[in-house]
Amino acid sequence: MSGPDLKMRCGCGLRAPLKTLWIDTNPQRRFFGCASYDGKSNACGFFAWFDPPTCPRGMEVGRDLMKKVRDLESENKVLKQSMTSLKRSMTSLKVMLGVSWAVVVVMGALLMRAAK
Ligand SMILES: [Zn+2]
Repeated sequence: MSGPDLKMRCGCGLRAPLKTLWIDTNPQRRFFGCASYDGKSNACGFFAWFDPPTCPRGMEVGRDLMKKVRDLESENKVLKQSMTSLKRSMTSLKVMLGVSWAVVVVMGALLMRAAK
């Protein structure tokens, strides 16, 4: 039994990369595409499915999972922003704590000198 042909070449003569679709109509279905594809133009137009079509239940599950992934990524982004904000607050609180301790030490020294 032979494995999948991962040495497929596109019309540009380059090894066609195996890519994964992240769209609801073909969730995580893999395909070979043009090696020169840059996100805008498909240089030679090469395209070949690697995976067979997904059954209706697989599509449904895939769509649900992709929605959950998108929701979690969105939530993660919000949490990262909150964490950055909290780190900034913590840094300024540390500075304020340091300054307040310096003031306490100076005030203590002044009070000790005045008490003599
Ligand atoms: Zn190509």
